[in-house]
Amino acid sequence: MSIKFYNTLTRKKEEFKTIDEKEVKIYSCGPTVYNFAHIGNLRAYLFMDNLRRVLKYNGYKLKHVMNITDVGHLVSDADEGEDKMIKASKRENKDPFQIADFYTEKFLKDMDLLNIDRPEIIARATEHIKIMEDYVKKIIDNGFTYQTENTIYFDTSKIDKYGILSNRNVEEQKAGARIEFDKNKKNISDFALWIKAPENHLMKWDSFFGKSYPGWHLECSAMSYKYLGEQFDIHTGGIDHIPIHHENEIAQSKGFSGKIPANYWMHVEFLQINGTKISKSLNNFYTLEDLQKKGYEPLVYKLFNYTSNYRAQINFTFEAMNSAKIALNRLREGYLKHSEGTEDISDELIKDYENRFLEAINDDLNMTVAMSVVWEVVKNPKKSKKLQKLLLKFDEVLGLDLANYKKEENILPEEIINLINKRNEARINKNWKESDKIRDILIEKGYNVKDSEKGTIVEK
Ligand code: AMP
Ligand code: ZN
Repeated sequence: MSIKFYNTLTRKKEEFKTIDEKEVKIYSCGPTVYNFAHIGNLRAYLFMDNLRRVLKYNGYKLKHVMNITDVGHLVSDADEGEDKMIKASKRENKDPFQIADFYTEKFLKDMDLLNIDRPEIIARATEHIKIMEDYVKKIIDNGFTYQTENTIYFDTSKIDKYGILSNRNVEEQKAGARIEFDKNKKNISDFALWIKAPENHLMKWDSFFGKSYPGWHLECSAMSYKYLGEQFDIHTGGIDHIPIHHENEIAQSKGFSGKIPANYWMHVEFLQINGTKISKSLNNFYTLEDLQKKGYEPLVYKLFNYTSNYRAQINFTFEAMNSAKIALNRLREGYLKHSEGTEDISDELIKDYENRFLEAINDDLNMTVAMSVVWEVVKNPKKSKKLQKLLLKFDEVLGLDLANYKKEENILPEEIINLINKRNEARINKNWKESDKIRDILIEKGYNVKDSEKGTIVEK
C-alpha cells in the first residue's frame, strides 16, 4: 500500500517514494542538551518514533540519524545571545561538557521510558567538529560566504530562493525580524556558519579561523552529509525549525552541493499546556519525571499523544491525562482478555481491521483513525487469541509494549507474597486472630483483601 506524507517543502500531501528501494534515510533534529527535556520536546520525539515505526511496519529498513546539539545553539535561533550550553554551565557552575553528558543521559532515559525506537545513529555535535570544518571550507570555496571580524556568515542573497521552505521572501523576513541585528551582516537572513571564540569561551577548537566553534545550523548539515550523503529521504523537526533552522540547512546544502538535502520535510506541531505555551515563568514546564511523580507512567503520556495527529496542536491537561490513564488500562485489560479467549474470528474480519489500520497510518500517520480501529479490536465482544495477535501487531506501531504487560497482581512484591502465605497458613490452622492481623497489615500497605476457596486474594 502506498504511503502519503505531508511535505512542508511542497505544502501538500505526497506519495512517498524512496531514493533506495528498501532503505529509508532520515535525519531528525535532536535536542540541545542544556536542560531537562519538557513534555513538549518529547512530543517531537514521539512523532519521530511514530514515523520510524510506521516505515518499519511497511517493511522498510531505516538509516536514521539524530543529532545531539552540545555546542553552538545560541539563545536565539537567529544567532543572537549566548551559547545555550555556556549559559547552562554558568547556571549550574559546571563544565559545559559535564552539562552535555548529564542532560544527554537524561534525554536517552526519557526516550527509553517512552519506548521510543532509537535512531540507528545518534551523533553528538562535539564529536564531529572536523567534518563540520571541512563542510564549511567547501561552502567558502564555493563563494557563498563573507567574513567579519568574528564570524563567517552565509550570504543568503547568493542562493536561489532562500525561504523556499517557509515560503517567505526576504522582505517578509525583514518585517518579522527584530530591529537590531548584527550590523556587519549584509542581509537580515544571513547566518553564522563559524564563530570565533571569545577569550574565555569554554567550548572551542583550533581551526582555519583560529579558536572557534561551529554554528548550530551547520552542525546538522555536516552530520547529515557524513552519514546520509548529499541527498536523503526525510528530514524531521518541530514547526519552530521551519523558518530559520531548516531554511538555513537548505541554504548550506545548496552552497555545498547545489542540492536540497531531503526530499520530504516533516514537522510536528507544538504541544500546549492548558491552551498556553510551555514556559518556566508560567510554572508549567513539566518533565516526564514530573508526570511520574504525579502518578502517570510514561506510556500514558505516549497514548495521550495519539489523541491528536502530529500536524495538529495538542492541548495537555491533567483531565486528558486521566482519560489516557484509564484508556491505557482498558487497552491492556482488553489485550489480556483476548489472550485468554477461545472464540473464533473470521479471517476476513482480521483482514478488514488490518487494512483499515494500515490505511490510516499510511495516510500521513493518521493516528486518531488508527486508534479507532485499535479500540474496535479491543472492544470486540468475542474474545479471541487472533485478536490478541492482531493487537500485538498493531503495537509495532503504537509502541506501548503490550507484549511485556502483566497484571499487577502477577508481580506482587515478595514481602506481600510472604504475608499472603502466612495468612493462608493461619487460616488453615483456624488462627483467626493472626489471620485478621495480617489482613490489616495488607490493607495498610494498600491492598484489598478477599477470601476465596484457594485462599487469600489481594488487589492493589
Ligand atoms: P530543543 O532542545 O530546544 O532544540 O528542542 C527540541 C525539539 O523540541 C525541537 O524539535 C523543537 O521543535 C521541539 N519542541 C519544543 N517545544 C515544543 C512544544 N511545545 N511542542 C512540541 N515540540 C516542541
Ligand atoms: Zn537540525
